[in-house]
Amino acid sequence: MKVAIIGAGMAGIGTMRYYIDHVEVPFELYIYDTKRDAGVGYPFGPDDKALLLNQRLRKMTLAPWDDKEEYIKYLERKRPESLEKEFISRAEFGEYTNDVFNQYIEDPRVTFIPEIVSDITVDGDSFTLHIEDRQEVFDVVHLCIGQLPQTDFYDLKGTDAFISTPFPINAYKDQLLRSDSVGIIGSSLTAIDIMMFLYTNQYNGKILAASRSGVLPFIRGSEADITITKDSWMQEQETPSISHFMEAIEDELNALGIDFNLVYELNDMSVEESLKWQLQNIETMGKIETVVTTLTVTLRKLWNQYPQHDREYFMKELKSLIMQLEGPFPMETAEKLVEMIEKNQLLFVSHLSDIEYRDTFILRDDKSTYNTELLVNATGPNMNGEHLADTNNASGLVKQLIDRRIFTRDELGGILVTYPEFSVISQAHGVLSRMKLYGNLISSTHVINSGVNLILSQIPQTIDTMLESIKNKK
Ligand SMILES: Cc1cc2nc3c(=O)[nH]c(=O)nc-3n(C[C@H](O)[C@H](O)[C@H](O)COP(=O)(O)OP(=O)(O)OC[C@H]3O[C@@H](n4cnc5c(N)ncnc54)[C@H](O)[C@@H]3O)c2cc1C
Repeated sequence: MKVAIIGAGMAGIGTMRYYIDHVEVPFELYIYDTKRDAGVGYPFGPDDKALLLNQRLRKMTLAPWDDKEEYIKYLERKRPESLEKEFISRAEFGEYTNDVFNQYIEDPRVTFIPEIVSDITVDGDSFTLHIEDRQEVFDVVHLCIGQLPQTDFYDLKGTDAFISTPFPINAYKDQLLRSDSVGIIGSSLTAIDIMMFLYTNQYNGKILAASRSGVLPFIRGSEADITITKDSWMQEQETPSISHFMEAIEDELNALGIDFNLVYELNDMSVEESLKWQLQNIETMGKIETVVTTLTVTLRKLWNQYPQHDREYFMKELKSLIMQLEGPFPMETAEKLVEMIEKNQLLFVSHLSDIEYRDTFILRDDKSTYNTELLVNATGPNMNGEHLADTNNASGLVKQLIDRRIFTRDELGGILVTYPEFSVISQAHGVLSRMKLYGNLISSTHVINSGVNLILSQIPQTIDTMLESIKNKK
């Protein structure tokens, strides 16, 4: 069996090592990526140390199915001093993932091809990969291509002072630190990364953080040891509905003496007030996050049974709020943000309605206009392949596969796959059970899969069921 893995970031490394450690049928495995990105993917390459993991380091691993403590053991051997920290830099985590990658490509069944796959054609049960001017035929393809670039919401592509993709941030260090004012559009973890980079590098200019919602992810609260019971109640309901998910959250929190409306109230406060409240109530935040994260595991399982109108409602009205709680950021970061707000260096603008460039960027909300010299795009990954602010290794391939009707756009965002097999659903070829897609592009099926552990968690099951069906077919 000839297997291709396209992309050697987190999902690609996880897939490769699952084959090597667990698959017994004979295989030859080819893994594709650029030399620069292989082993680290988009977020974990060498970069400024201010960019932190958003998970506690003790929770990170590249082998969630085998050894949840693999990373801790790695640090004990290589960098014991890092174990004293709760959160470490993403680049440090990348050293571990890169070491794992280098170790596994030594296996004689593996060939690493340091090139980009630009197109794929399907012919019956086989797949032809197009690489530069060559073509290679495979029996199985795992698309581990990460995320698309961000969106160009305000038609700013091509403007010199617009940073459309801010990583590696060190590439923009001089430009950022030299400018008098930096605008950041978006309120995601990427936006916080930029703020922390500026803080750590003692930037003195003004920072304007502008977005439509004007809210940040929540602060990661202290770890809470809570027994959740409503997850089985959610699964027992005869007619699955998102309302059960919300009801379960509210009930679990009520039992802990917490009203879930609190999170809406926090979002109505100014960023400064909200951060200060959270910093003083870090245990409450930990409880809310634990309840939501635990029940989201059940939501994820039931997701594909919910009616479409429910799923649309969730995507439009609830997803951002759940993401605020699912992807929180460290307390130390919040303290630094408060410090910057208090010295009037950092200003948050909500209801951002328009941006134009006339020698400086002019940002408008419903009341005022603001100017910044430089503007950083931190709006998060594009989900439909349209109006991209940039290109990346995935964007050309995704465009081709949509054009070939191998990829079908999911109307909730991203690309359609089956659940839980993650087989690509093609309009031209039907369900492609030997073509798997992982990661951000399937986050409307594998809902809120925004972390290494979650993305990797499904890999064993997708490979095992595929191999089982190939065996049965024979
Ligand atoms: C800025 C940022 C910070 C994050 N921080 C965290 C965190 O702290 N903790 C956490 O758990 N998660 C974090 N995440 C989520 C993170 O995206 C995932 O956890 C993880 O990196 C996704 O793995 P992946 O394999 O899908 O994508 P990646 O790890 O990005 O890997 C995709 C790879 O595919 C390659 N590729 C794409 N197209 C092609 C092609 N055509 N041919 C060959 N190769 C190709 C790319 O070059 C890339 O190396 C963060 C995400 C971002 C964007």
